[in-house]
Amino acid sequence: MPDNDQERKFKDLLARILKSPLYKEKLSKNNLNGVGLEHIQTLPLTTKEDLRNAGAFAHLAVEMKEVAQYHESTGTTGEPSSSWFTQEDLRTGGRQLKECGVRLTADDLVLIRFPYAMSLPAFLMQQAAWQTGAGVVPASGRTVVTPYPRVLQLMERLSVTVAVGLPREFELLAETARLIGSTPSNNFPALRAICVAGELMSDKRKEHIEKLWSVPVFNMYGSTETANIATMCEYGEMHIVEQDFYVEVLQEDGAGPTAHGERGFAAITTLSHQGSPLLRYFNDDIISVEHSECACGRTGGKLEHYGRRKDRVRIGDTVLDAVDLQEAIYSLSPTPDAWKAIEQENGLHFLLDSHDYGKWSEEAVRYHLSGKLRVPVTIEIVADSRLLDRAELVKNVPSIKPVYIQKFS
Ligand SMILES: [Zn+2]
Repeated sequence: MPDNDQERKFKDLLARILKSPLYKEKLSKNNLNGVGLEHIQTLPLTTKEDLRNAGAFAHLAVEMKEVAQYHESTGTTGEPSSSWFTQEDLRTGGRQLKECGVRLTADDLVLIRFPYAMSLPAFLMQQAAWQTGAGVVPASGRTVVTPYPRVLQLMERLSVTVAVGLPREFELLAETARLIGSTPSNNFPALRAICVAGELMSDKRKEHIEKLWSVPVFNMYGSTETANIATMCEYGEMHIVEQDFYVEVLQEDGAGPTAHGERGFAAITTLSHQGSPLLRYFNDDIISVEHSECACGRTGGKLEHYGRRKDRVRIGDTVLDAVDLQEAIYSLSPTPDAWKAIEQENGLHFLLDSHDYGKWSEEAVRYHLSGKLRVPVTIEIVADSRLLDRAELVKNVPSIKPVYIQKFS
């Protein structure tokens, strides 16, 4: 149920959003007088394609002098999704992450492993840290400056208390740690929590990363286009930041809502964002929303994320989302260090890599996966570097500047 605060922000949004060329055009036939959240379904959806076709400036709703930062993420298709942030948007984005159950304090030293180039979460996490008084160690991913062993050294040497990044980064850092012989309890005693975002994280994957690092893991759900929509509390529930977002769950064709709590497609309306606000953004994510009265004291919508439309697999009558595959894979013992599922005509073929693969029996693994997924499964245990190049992982060679002047010494 929308509250008064959401209604007020929604009306304000409908006035502001017309400053962007995209929505001036899109809403030209709509009479917005008196339109409140209860009428939101009369307004058009915004698709990823709409944004891409319209170009980077199309959803910019403030003057360039208000812009503080531009962000862009590139999906697997190579087409960028973009967003614009004012200074206030960056502060709002930081506040959204402060809702996370990790409860940052001024005593924390937060290592940020999200990439600092173009992508959004590093900057919002930095805002969240600064707003609480915590310190930041910018250990960007996807750069030659901070290879995996160096990040581990930083975590150890600086007594980092909280580390944040893609879930995959914490799997790869743990594998690097194993390869160079360090252990979480001995080498990172100061570490108290890990926060992740940017990739799907099922319950079993969360448990796996918690086991690797012996600390709680908190998930955050958002995107470059919207900033952070939901954050995980200490009870593991993903609470929607309702002061900033109105989240609908729609049928696949966008026609109407799904039944309460059912899987459907997200349509996100940003209530606070100034730079590039979005109305009913159909982001191709599969989610469900249920009302929750959580033990943490929060009430309102809790969100679950099941994956993206493009990762949904249909085999016969069985529909599998990315989350279903993750749950099956991450309940294997040992848990794979790397994996890949390949859709086939009548089933799934899995490539699996574990440093401990000797403990797998092919037949037991196949039985486990086909039982969980209810489709025919074939598997291949990979013992080479096709899925994970461990030699590359432990290379601790940052790029260095050239020596311009060589002294006689
Ligand atoms: Zn909660």
